[in-house]
Amino acid sequence: MKRREFLSLSAFMAVAAACNDLTDNDKFENTSDTVLVIGAGMAGLGAARQLRDKGYTVKVLEGRDRIGGRIWTSRFWPDTPVDLGASWIHGVKGNPLTKLANEAGVTRIETNYDNDILYKTNGEVANAKFRSRMQRLFDQLVKAVSRQAEDGMTLRESIEATPAWAELSAQEKQQIMHIINVTVEHEFAGGIGEMSAVNFDDSEIFGGKDVLFPDGYARITEYLSRDLDIQLEQIVEAVTYGDDGVTIKTNQDLFTADRVIVTLPIGVLKNGTVKFNPPLPAEKQRAIITIGAGLLDKLFLRFPKIFWNEKVEILDWISEKHGRWNEWLNIAFYTGKPILLGFNAADYARQIESWSDREIVADAMRVLRTIYGNDIPNPESWQLSRWRLDPFAFCSYSFNGIGASADTRNTLGKPVVNRLFFAGEATSEDYPATVHGAYLSGVHAASTIMKL
Ligand SMILES: Cc1cc2nc3c(=O)[nH]c(=O)nc-3n(C[C@H](O)[C@H](O)[C@H](O)COP(=O)(O)OP(=O)(O)OC[C@H]3O[C@@H](n4cnc5c(N)ncnc54)[C@H](O)[C@@H]3O)c2cc1C
Repeated sequence: MKRREFLSLSAFMAVAAACNDLTDNDKFENTSDTVLVIGAGMAGLGAARQLRDKGYTVKVLEGRDRIGGRIWTSRFWPDTPVDLGASWIHGVKGNPLTKLANEAGVTRIETNYDNDILYKTNGEVANAKFRSRMQRLFDQLVKAVSRQAEDGMTLRESIEATPAWAELSAQEKQQIMHIINVTVEHEFAGGIGEMSAVNFDDSEIFGGKDVLFPDGYARITEYLSRDLDIQLEQIVEAVTYGDDGVTIKTNQDLFTADRVIVTLPIGVLKNGTVKFNPPLPAEKQRAIITIGAGLLDKLFLRFPKIFWNEKVEILDWISEKHGRWNEWLNIAFYTGKPILLGFNAADYARQIESWSDREIVADAMRVLRTIYGNDIPNPESWQLSRWRLDPFAFCSYSFNGIGASADTRNTLGKPVVNRLFFAGEATSEDYPATVHGAYLSGVHAASTIMKL
């Protein structure tokens, strides 16, 4: 969640400018080309918007009964929309989403990650001395890891190979793992046992604050989708391509076009639920295997009253079991409503996705009772995500597993015989795993078609 805090310590941060694929003076010869876009997430909508605005005939095929994909604003609580997918614009400076949000007139609220409170495993508040010692140990470990990390190593292997790690007590290891869980695993959605030690954060960032949307991120996708031809509940099953163009078979119809932009999530590509005929080039298939499909899940609990410190934004708890409800966002801070949002990522999230809602809520409540006592009320209602079990995502977002890098993402995003074009967060070399990365990848795919 605190994006890239881990490596910001080793000063690898770089601020990149948004890619600007087209200028207003560019002329397009082939606007009679027809284009199909698979997926009405941020990449698909970004691509379709760009093409449509330049006069192309474009149709978006979306499998779900809604647009937005991994931007999913639930209005189940009519007075408080909540985002079960993306919440933040990460870095508002120079970020294309800032421009979109301004155009759409959408309200945003800054998040101050330093406005937090840390609870120890037994529920006691950790004081400043405890926290600064914990941070110092973490900083030392990060330095050691950046010396130790080698190609082919997972992050866990590189951590455990450092002398600094061996010297820590069991409790100190638990504290360090807490920081790693909330700053690395929540951020990149991969487990430290599966992410590449050298490339796990191989991406760029925008500067400025992070902001979230009290009215829901869907305000952005709704704005982008205006006047677009979007067909919902068209589940793409097969894509056939060749010299004559592209044919797409869905659960309902056949569609033909000159070109297609595929924005399927990496989880869907890995699952092979959409067949390509002829099969995708071998290098692209390898990229699909190499890029990881990560998991970050959310649980919103709505209580009859606020029983926590409503002035604090982030509530952290050092769990005994790795990754168990380590971080909560105080939604009351932004909305005044008695709602907490708990996060889970990677291994723990995978473990609990198969539990029933009640089991998940009970597990979360045991943690909140450890912190706030047995007298706190039960939640009146809850909403939660299971992104790995979602057949239109099979993941939350991509991460760099062993062997994956910006080059792998470039390979994933390469067009095939100028018929198939690829976009989506996993194809973004610079900004994977983000909404802006998805959007820019869609704009880029559209621009590539326009330049043909
Ligand atoms: C819990 C969570 C929290 C996140 N938090 C943030 C955040 O705070 N900030 C941030 O920048 N990013 C965040 N992200 C990442 C961000 O949401 C994604 O990177 C981005 O939305 C992906 O957009 P996309 O267009 O690439 O993919 P998607 O949004 O997944 O779009 C792909 C579309 O394809 C559709 N589709 C799939 N299969 C088929 C099929 N067979 N036929 C037809 N359609 C199909 C899907 O339904 C979907 O609509 C988060 C993601 C999750 C899950």
